[in-house]
Amino acid sequence: MKPDLFQAPDYYNLDELLTDEHKMVRDATREFVKREVSPIIEQAAQDAKFPKQLINGLAEIGAFGPYIPEEYGGAGLDQISYGLIMQEIERGDSGIRSTASVQSSLVMYPIFKYGTEEQKEKFLPKLASGEMIGCFGLTEPDHGSNPGGMTTNFKDKGDHYLLNGAKMWISNSPFADIAIVWAKNEEGRIHGLIVERGMEGFSTPETHNKWSLRASATGELIFDNVKVPKANLMPGKSGLGAPLGCLDSARYGIAWGAIGAAMDCYDTALRYSKEREQFGVPIASKQLQQKKLAEMITEITKAQLMAWRLGTLRNEGKATSAQISMAKRNNVEMAINIAREARQILGGMGITGEYSIMRHMMNLESVITYEGTHDIHLLITGLDITGHAAF
Ligand SMILES: Cc1cc2nc3c(=O)[nH]c(=O)nc-3n(C[C@H](O)[C@H](O)[C@H](O)COP(=O)(O)OP(=O)(O)OC[C@H]3O[C@@H](n4cnc5c(N)ncnc54)[C@H](O)[C@@H]3O)c2cc1C
Repeated sequence: MKPDLFQAPDYYNLDELLTDEHKMVRDATREFVKREVSPIIEQAAQDAKFPKQLINGLAEIGAFGPYIPEEYGGAGLDQISYGLIMQEIERGDSGIRSTASVQSSLVMYPIFKYGTEEQKEKFLPKLASGEMIGCFGLTEPDHGSNPGGMTTNFKDKGDHYLLNGAKMWISNSPFADIAIVWAKNEEGRIHGLIVERGMEGFSTPETHNKWSLRASATGELIFDNVKVPKANLMPGKSGLGAPLGCLDSARYGIAWGAIGAAMDCYDTALRYSKEREQFGVPIASKQLQQKKLAEMITEITKAQLMAWRLGTLRNEGKATSAQISMAKRNNVEMAINIAREARQILGGMGITGEYSIMRHMMNLESVITYEGTHDIHLLITGLDITGHAAF
């Protein structure tokens, strides 16, 4: 792969909206990605292997639980810093960002929000330091966009719960130490349980042959009469709103992360267009290529403004789920379109692993589907503005 020459586009001087802390956090993550992720990511994706050697470094830059309070091992940062960390990691690779998102928003967040003090003390510091890795099991083979239909269930057996069922498409599952599992009790009410590796009847087979998010491990969660101690149920919230609350936080991170992938594709294509000569001149001097590049930087700038505003709303506790859906949907589509256009600017070179664009493009095919598909987020906006659910 080519050396990482990334220069972040900032067409509207958005840096002026950031505090010194935001810039420090962003720059530290950017430096980490250049130093640790860029040199190894292409091979990791080709080999379809999550690069576990990045775990300690991700923990050190605060990527695991950026906004979880320091007393539980988190970095105690605000929502803009969290977003900037996700942006910079996804600039390197969406799969690595997925691991950080899942650990922070889908594992640490529910334990912090809905867990007991005992659960917080037992799990959060180890998750923040990367000593433990977690995963989040909501999707099932027959229930993706409609998670409320889930059939995974647990029964009260006096001194423990008995868990049965299966989850599919679970990021980090093949090597996770714990799984946050959403399952129905005997009354059909959804609760979150912390299932630990090693519990009898619990297995996590890996999903192979993915063309997308190849540097992220994806798998199933299978529960065959798993005895879960009662102390592992998170009592703070039940119902579908509990997992959806976690997804708000993760989707917000994706809205920033997708900008990172788009910035990397744009920056690569811009540099290439200035260096590559055809018909005796750089292809950057051609109107057709300028149209592509000008539209890219316009769309990136709009997405940056949207993410920043959403971050300030989240800092004030005012961002709605529907606002988060709009940003996730808009920014991921923006990124995937930019990846496709950028790939063309590189001509044949665009399909090789010499450059990051094709990897970003394939990764974004998962990002546009997970954490609520592109269609579902549109329907959430539709419901919000009309009052009619069209799911
Ligand atoms: C790489 C990867 C990692 C993932 N990681 C996780 C994870 O860590 N944890 C987890 O729980 N899940 C995870 N997922 C699952 C992901 O969230 C689901 O794939 C997603 O929610 C869509 O579900 P589905 O694949 O079953 O598609 P379906 O729900 O079957 O949808 C298929 C198509 O139908 C459309 N559709 C569905 N319902 C409607 C409707 N009412 N109206 C109009 N169109 C509709 C969808 O938009 C889509 O285009 C991951 C997925 C991938 C690919």
